[in-house]
Amino acid sequence: MNSVQIDKQKQIGDIVSTVKLASLLFTGIILFKYIFTGDTSQIGYQSLYYEMISILLPLLILLFIYFVWTFSTKNKLSSKYDNIVNKGETFLFILLFSIIIYISGANESNYKFLFLFIIITTTIQSGMKHGMITAIISSIIILSMDLVMMPASEVNIYFENDLILAGIFILTAWPLGFYVKIEGEHIKKLEDMVNFDGLTNVYNHRYFQDKLKEKIEIGRKENKPVSMIFIDIDYFKHYNDLYGHQKGDNILRELAEIVTKSVREKDVVARYGGEEFAVILEDTTERETLEIAERIRANVEETYFDGEENQPKGKITASIGISVFPDKAKDELELIKSADDALYRAKFFNKNRVETYTSILDDLKKNIDDKDIELVTSIKTLISIINAKDRYTYSHVERVVIYSRLLADKLKLSEIDKSNLIYGAYMHDIGKINIPKEILVKRMKLEKEEWEELKQHPDNGVEIIKSVESLKDVIPLIKHHHERYDGKGYPNGLSGEEIPYLARVLTVVDSFDAMTSNRPYNRRKSYEEGIEELRKCSGAQFDPEIAKAFIEVIESNAAFL
Ligand code: GH3
Ligand code: MG
Ligand code: MG
Repeated sequence: MNSVQIDKQKQIGDIVSTVKLASLLFTGIILFKYIFTGDTSQIGYQSLYYEMISILLPLLILLFIYFVWTFSTKNKLSSKYDNIVNKGETFLFILLFSIIIYISGANESNYKFLFLFIIITTTIQSGMKHGMITAIISSIIILSMDLVMMPASEVNIYFENDLILAGIFILTAWPLGFYVKIEGEHIKKLEDMVNFDGLTNVYNHRYFQDKLKEKIEIGRKENKPVSMIFIDIDYFKHYNDLYGHQKGDNILRELAEIVTKSVREKDVVARYGGEEFAVILEDTTERETLEIAERIRANVEETYFDGEENQPKGKITASIGISVFPDKAKDELELIKSADDALYRAKFFNKNRVETYTSILDDLKKNIDDKDIELVTSIKTLISIINAKDRYTYSHVERVVIYSRLLADKLKLSEIDKSNLIYGAYMHDIGKINIPKEILVKRMKLEKEEWEELKQHPDNGVEIIKSVESLKDVIPLIKHHHERYDGKGYPNGLSGEEIPYLARVLTVVDSFDAMTSNRPYNRRKSYEEGIEELRKCSGAQFDPEIAKAFIEVIESNAAFL
């Protein structure tokens, strides 16, 4: 049940409980009337017996009220038990009303209408079927009383009258039940309209968020994994620019269909954004998710889409990122974020591929002292804040880490130096956390004060990590990654060999990525232009040896990068 349904059920429950309570009150009044008016023809003869009843009965009724009230309004029980409780409650009411009718004259009783209360409330609460059954049982009870108590010779006038009453019972339950049914169907239709994406006919973003929360909660309770797949069409802007949005929309429709066909019945497929789709897979491990994601990717690649031959790679393809709760993410926000990170990694590695989320810092945690774990976790949080602030930074960091790995091998760095370089690459911009987003993404040249502020980031970064003992060797990289070989860099204006070696390595890698990626403030250079720039600035900005080695790395990996 979703929140709207729960809310509705609760409000109906409140009304129904009020009606039930009121009917109990009436029942009480009727009972007392018969007990205290001493109408001895219907009830026992001894006064002690009356007294006991008059004390016990209100108590019982109060107890009964209490149970009815707690069960029907507080939603304490799961819906599995709700049904049983509702049936039990209806049964008790029928029993109570039957007793009251019996002691107030059985076939001659004036209170047979009491059954209407339970017929109406049951119909509203549990629908037509239950309402009709209640109406029929009530009718049978009053008609049986009429038959059993039938006066010997006369025409059974009570039976005739009660046939009409039975008709009224059923005629109350039937249209009311019908109304409840129509209303339910109507609500379902409206919900579908609210939950589905009009273009692609899969669930929409809002529904996806609700469902993910729900599945994670279930996963947490039952200790089962929940996986997520994020899908983004490659070069889709190119297709739109070429053929127009209408044809682009056709691709989206077809893609939604392929994704739906590639996953299992129980998986939830949604359109997450413009041209991004997401799938929630409950009780599914990372390995199974990977298989399903790969099936989606392959099916997209193998499908022929109208006009795809003019796409940059001659095909419409999709990149896919996956992540899994609780292994890789501790809640739904982290799950979305990590799957999205994995997707960006897939884009980075040449698109048309599936990537699983891995975190460099999670790897780092394995080699780190227990006492530092908490600090490293906070650093991780800081990094995700920076990523959220500035999408560019995320992919930048990711690329710098990948380049650093390649260059570390080329330079034959020791294992320790290699991991320090990688951690440095990962954290080098952490000091940007306090810099306002406006400065980070500013398109125009920075004002003097803004530039001064930006220049603080190496020192700020050191402040953040200096208390983590296990990261002490990473400090020089963060502090000096903006120094220049000719001494014109910041923060200390060190030159040549004064600059720590790994910091010099990081400068080359970081600068190359800055040149060759889309930055807010200048045009992106091609790899060739980037290499040219590295050559030009060798000996001035960059350590010539390191620049030379990196150029070789880029040239030999050009096809892959
Ligand atoms: P990449 O390979 O990196 O994913 O590049 P891309 O061009 O696909 O870029 P991105 O994922 O950022 O996609 C954005 C484009 O998606 C912009 C717009 O042309 C297209 N798009 C987004 N929503 C819609 C939509 O509802 N209909 C259509 N036809 N196109 C959409
Ligand atoms: Mg996109
Ligand atoms: Mg795309």
